Amino acid sequence: MQKVIILGAGLAGALLAVLLARRGYAPLVIERRPDPRASSEQAGRSINLALSDRGIVALQEAGVFARIEPLLIPMRGRQLHEADISPRFMSYGQRDEERIHSVSRRLLNRVLVDSAAANPAVKFLFDHRCVHLDPLDASITLVDEASGETRRESADVIIGCDGAGSRLRQCLVDAGLCEVSEEWLPHGYRELTLPAAADGRHALRADALHIWPRGGHMLIALPNLDGTFTCTLFLPHEGDPGFDRLGDADSVHGFFSQEFPDTVPLMPALAEEFLANPVGHMATVRCQPWHFRNRVLLLGDAAHAIVPFHGQGMNCAFEDCRELDSLIGTHGSDWEKVFAEFQTVRLPSANAIADMALENYVEMRDTVRDPRFALKKALAFELERVFPEHFIPRYSMVMFHPEISYAEAQRRGRIQDEVLESLTRGVERLEQVDRQQAHALVRARLAA
Ligand SMILES: Cc1cc2nc3c(=O)[nH]c(=O)nc-3n(C[C@H](O)[C@H](O)[C@H](O)COP(=O)(O)OP(=O)(O)OC[C@H]3O[C@@H](n4cnc5c(N)ncnc54)[C@H](O)[C@@H]3O)c2cc1C
Repeated sequence: MQKVIILGAGLAGALLAVLLARRGYAPLVIERRPDPRASSEQAGRSINLALSDRGIVALQEAGVFARIEPLLIPMRGRQLHEADISPRFMSYGQRDEERIHSVSRRLLNRVLVDSAAANPAVKFLFDHRCVHLDPLDASITLVDEASGETRRESADVIIGCDGAGSRLRQCLVDAGLCEVSEEWLPHGYRELTLPAAADGRHALRADALHIWPRGGHMLIALPNLDGTFTCTLFLPHEGDPGFDRLGDADSVHGFFSQEFPDTVPLMPALAEEFLANPVGHMATVRCQPWHFRNRVLLLGDAAHAIVPFHGQGMNCAFEDCRELDSLIGTHGSDWEKVFAEFQTVRLPSANAIADMALENYVEMRDTVRDPRFALKKALAFELERVFPEHFIPRYSMVMFHPEISYAEAQRRGRIQDEVLESLTRGVERLEQVDRQQAHALVRARLAA
C-alpha cells in the first residue's frame, strides 16, 4: 500500500486523516504539539471559531458531525454595540436554519483527532516538528520536541496541513518550486474572556456574535458552552489607538472605559488578562503551485491562509478536505492528476475568499454602522424572497450555500452590490425603493 504522510494534526490534517482512512489508506499524521486528547478540559485559553455550512457539510460527509454537533452554539446574527446607542440585533439570514455556530477550537480538534484515531489504520506521531522537506524523494526531517533528536520519514505522498506558517511551503519556496506572497495586516488581535454571570449563564445574549464596531478597530465576542464569551480585540499594532500604547493596566482600563464601557464591569480581570495574552498577527498568504508533481501537496492554511473576518479559514480548509477526498474517489492514487485538479478547482475559490475576508473586516468594524448598510441588507433579503433563484445576499452565499463556490459567490456578489447600490442611491427608507426598477435590474443582470 502507498504510504501517505499528513503533516499537522490541526483541523484540516485530522479531518483528512479520517477521510483517507475511509478510502483505504493508512496515513501517518505528524504533529509538533502534544496529543490534544491528553490535555485537560480546562487547560489553556478557550478560543472559539465560527463554523458554517461549508464546514458542516464536510464534517457530515466524513461521518463525524454527530460528535461535533453537541459542541455547537448557534449564532443567528450580529449583536451590534455601538457607542451611545442600545445594542441592536442584525440577523445573518432570513430563514431559521441560517445560523453560524460557535465552537471551541480545542474541543473540535480533539474530537477530530479522536475520530481519526478510532480507525486503526491511522497512526499519529505527536511532539515531532518537521524542519525540512526533501521534495524529490518525499522525505521529511523531524525533531523530537522532547529529546531534540532528529529522524527522517519518507512516503509516497506528503500532504502539508501545517497551517499558515507552513514549514513545508517554505521548503518548497526555498527549493524554487513554489512562489509565495504574504500580505500582513497592520492590525493584530488579542483574546480575552468575558466570564459567565453569577448564575452561570451567559452575561450577554448567547445566540449572537457580538460586535463593538469603532471604525478603525473593533471588539467581538463569541459564546462558549460554559457560559463565558471569548472576546477578540482587533486593533492596529501601532498608533493611537494601537497595541503599542496599551502596555500597562491604567492604559488598558482607560482604553476600554472609553471605547467599550459596557464591557468593563463584565470583565473583572480585564487588564491582567490583556497584559498576559499575546498579540496575534494576521496575513493573507497566497502561493502557487500548491503541489510538487505527484509527491507533495499543500492544503488548508498552508496553501491559502486568510484573515479571520469572514469566519471561513477553517470552513475553507474543511471544504478542501472534502474536494480532495472526492478527487481521490474519482482518480484513485493518480496523485499528479488529483493534485493538479485540486489546485484548478480550489485556487480561484481560495483567492475569492481571501479577498472577501479582507473586505469583511471593513464591513464589521465600520460599514455595519452605516444606515445604508441596514437598508441594503433589508432590500437584499426582500430580493432574495422574490427571486430566490437569482438573488442571494453574498454573506448568505458564503455562509449558508456550500453548493455555490466562493469564486461564484464573489462574482455574483459584485453584480448584486452594483444593483443594490443603484437602487438605494438617494433613498432613505425601504418603502422608497423603486420595485419595478429593482425587479427589472435583477432579471436583466442576474437571471441570465
Ligand atoms: C483569530 C482567528 C480567528 C479565526 N476564526 C475563524 C472562524 O471563526 N472560522 C473559521 O472558519 N476560521 C477561523 N480562523 C481560521 C482558522 O483558524 C484556520 O483557517 C484553520 O485553523 C486552518 O486549519 P489548518 O488545519 O489548515 O491549520 P491549523 O489549524 O493551524 O493546523 C496546523 C497544524 O500543523 C501543526 N504544525 C505546524 N507546523 C508544524 C511543523 N513544522 N511540524 C509539525 N506540525 C506542525 C500545528 O501545530 C497545527 O496543529 C481564525 C483564525 C484566527 C487567527
